[in-house]
Amino acid sequence: MLIENKKISIVGGGPGGLTLARLLQMNGADVKVYERDLNKHVRVQGGALDLHEESGLAALKKAGLMEAFKANYRPGADKIRIVDNKANIVFDQHVYETVEAFGNEWFRPEIDRGPLRDILLASLKPGTVVWDSHIVSLEPVNDSWKLEFQNGKSAMADIVIAADGANSKIRSYITAVKPFYVGITMVEGFVSDSEKITPKIHELLKGGKIFAFGNEKSLIVSSKGDGSLGFATGCKTDEFWFRESGIDFKDNVEMLTWFKKEFSEWGSVWLELFENDKTSFIVRPQYCMPLDQSWETIPNITMLGDAAHWMPPYAGEGVNMAMLDALELSECLTNPAFTDMQKAIASYEKQMCARFADVGRITLESTASLHSANAINNMLAMFEQ
Ligand SMILES: Cc1cc2nc3c(=O)[nH]c(=O)nc-3n(C[C@H](O)[C@H](O)[C@H](O)COP(=O)(O)OP(=O)(O)OC[C@H]3O[C@@H](n4cnc5c(N)ncnc54)[C@H](O)[C@@H]3O)c2cc1C
Repeated sequence: MLIENKKISIVGGGPGGLTLARLLQMNGADVKVYERDLNKHVRVQGGALDLHEESGLAALKKAGLMEAFKANYRPGADKIRIVDNKANIVFDQHVYETVEAFGNEWFRPEIDRGPLRDILLASLKPGTVVWDSHIVSLEPVNDSWKLEFQNGKSAMADIVIAADGANSKIRSYITAVKPFYVGITMVEGFVSDSEKITPKIHELLKGGKIFAFGNEKSLIVSSKGDGSLGFATGCKTDEFWFRESGIDFKDNVEMLTWFKKEFSEWGSVWLELFENDKTSFIVRPQYCMPLDQSWETIPNITMLGDAAHWMPPYAGEGVNMAMLDALELSECLTNPAFTDMQKAIASYEKQMCARFADVGRITLESTASLHSANAINNMLAMFEQ
């Protein structure tokens, strides 16, 4: 096997990197995951993720982790309410009987990021993840790579796989192709105890998700198993609005003022999310890699997930694509039919780029459609398909 006696370094312990580590270890590979988080107890923020049968769940199945997934997913958390800007419900999945049918392509069970990470971490050999390893640079040394970390440490690897997310440090060693701004900026927020802090939204959420649209803006709210909620507004802005607006995103009074002005046509129910001093915010301008991206394969370095094909989250495909990349890359690296690394990585990159061209296009269409004047009808049409 190509990876026999090779030291493989995966940079980034997100869903993509950890899934790959698991799949490679099942094939006897010598793998380390270098993760910038200080330890495994760092709270993983972000809304719940729905895994799809043909991608995220297919990877978990191959990784032998479906039982662990079934013990940790949140039945009912996939239920969606589509509402208008005044929170009038126009579509409610809670009124339909749930068909929890693993194996059905339309069943998309939700799991919180923290438990998903825990399942993957628990599946790895002890010591696989090297915490507090924020990579700052790579240096080629003969046919290998020297990885250098912010904490002054370094490591050597025969093969490097970038799984370090949207702002990958490693991507630039593979290609100069850069992402483009898609015209939407998200403001993501987290509320630790939604029942107490945002009771009206908590009730509307009903343990699932809210998709609110109006005036070419979006607001997506997701419940989490620990009683918290995550939400993200989506607005059409200039690329550098986050700094040119002069808003201090850490100042909740400024954030409330911004929301009231920007969402002035929206109902007052949403103010709960901004009126308390417990909400924390992250501003996220949305980018996408060019759909036709390609590069010359390098035989000892490649990438997956957001590092390879960052795209907006409006089609819910990011984590699923990252995990499917891990599955396909592991299959290429362990396939005895490949006699050299160049061919194995080239085969993976070819199918990954082709898949992204398709999924990325759908994602961009969805991003535009959900921020159009007709967003609600567009979203309803998706459910009628
Ligand atoms: C608001 C929002 C909502 C989303 N909703 C969905 C959704 O509903 N469904 C969906 O499928 N996708 C969603 N996504 C996208 C999804 O989160 C990503 O596509 C997915 O997490 C990508 O996985 P990854 O493993 O490639 O990267 P990440 O999950 O970003 O993981 C990268 C890892 O690398 C680490 N890292 C980063 N830089 C370094 C470094 N220099 N050195 C070492 N380690 C590093 C990070 O700490 C992290 O652990 C959403 C994204 C956002 C922002």
